Amino acid sequence: MGGQVSTADVHVVVVGGGFGGIAAALRLQSRGLAFTLIDLRDSFHHNVAALRASLQPGFAKRTFIPYANTFGDSFVQGRVERIDTGRQAVVLEGGREIQFTHLILCTGTDGTFPGRFNTVASHQSAVQSYEDFVGQVQAADSVLVIGGGSTGVEMAAEIRTEYPDKKVVLVHSRMQLADPDLLPIVRYQAKEVLLEKGVEVLLGHKVSNLSELKLNATTKNMEVVTDKGERIKTDLIFCCTGLRVNSSAYKSSFSDHMTNSGALKVNEHLQVEGFSNVFAIGDCNNVNEAKTAYNAELHAGIAVGNIANSVNGKRLTAYRTGNVTMLLAMGRDDGVGQVNGFQLPRCLVALLKSRDLLLWKSWREMKQKQPTP
Ligand SMILES: Cc1cc2nc3c(=O)[nH]c(=O)nc-3n(C[C@H](O)[C@H](O)[C@H](O)COP(=O)(O)OP(=O)(O)OC[C@H]3O[C@@H](n4cnc5c(N)ncnc54)[C@H](O)[C@@H]3O)c2cc1C
Repeated sequence: MGGQVSTADVHVVVVGGGFGGIAAALRLQSRGLAFTLIDLRDSFHHNVAALRASLQPGFAKRTFIPYANTFGDSFVQGRVERIDTGRQAVVLEGGREIQFTHLILCTGTDGTFPGRFNTVASHQSAVQSYEDFVGQVQAADSVLVIGGGSTGVEMAAEIRTEYPDKKVVLVHSRMQLADPDLLPIVRYQAKEVLLEKGVEVLLGHKVSNLSELKLNATTKNMEVVTDKGERIKTDLIFCCTGLRVNSSAYKSSFSDHMTNSGALKVNEHLQVEGFSNVFAIGDCNNVNEAKTAYNAELHAGIAVGNIANSVNGKRLTAYRTGNVTMLLAMGRDDGVGQVNGFQLPRCLVALLKSRDLLLWKSWREMKQKQPTP
């Protein structure tokens, strides 16, 4: 599906203004192609820095970047409810329709606060949600993090770095920490850093009373029980598990082109199966690789390039998954990770990522001045 159009007639709609969406919009803007970027919120959420925003007072304002200052009238705030593929229109909550010649879907994944914040909120109230949360953390003497994937590992390290007097326990159902796509040595190093920082790490245990526990709210002496019979008292619980693909914008239109998890099936050009003018990028596509902002930005380059190629009658570019690049901030002073499959020294990860969490990059790309701390 999708016919031939000239550059002057192109109108790309980008659904979702996360890492993939803003990268796509910035590339469309610099190529002079007409586009509309749609997101639930009025500001880009730099979720890579969200954990620190939930711990450090005054930090959250650096993690939300207003779209309109960068994209002007090309940004529309709203929730996309469905895609009318026949009429080539995106339908927003309330009924507004926006026509497209090409569509880029990048609605990402949803998960638990504070790593994710997929809520309709103004810039001010979004920042305030994180500032309010800092108070919860400060009131707790002990914190328990459930899930030792990359987010859980970063969270546990971040808490001990900001609050060295708090007891921090990390419970993980598997025997190895962090993302399975990382080199074994990097995963091992992540554990080493946690232990050095004084985090108590409980591996191979699954929390068995999760449904009875109050998450993200300080309540003195809650009891967490594991499937191996361990009982741990804690004041505050973060759950860093269970990311879900955010398919609500497109599931009614593309149900035949989705995996069981809700990810859109794409070909090597990142076109949704059966649609030459619909692309899916970032966490919501089914490319078999680590789901990262880094990869979402690479996808954006391919999708926008292929829209231009198709309009200009050129051959489309294929996306090739590279070796894994992933950096874990272990508090602002330490980190572990790898670039293109090669392990980096901890001090270099701290310098590259942990100190500023790459906030500078997004503010600079969106041509806005980062608020002073
Ligand atoms: C704590 C943490 C640390 C991380 N650290 C790193 C890191 O160091 N490096 C790295 O590369 N990756 C990192 N990641 C992963 C990275 O954040 C994700 O892979 C990235 O956000 C994916 O980008 P995306 O554009 O696909 O989706 P998202 O960034 O999730 O954006 C999706 C957007 O779509 C919008 N949306 C959803 N549904 C609708 C709808 N119906 N209508 C309108 N808008 C909608 C949402 O509001 C959101 O803005 C980290 C993630 C977390 C949580």
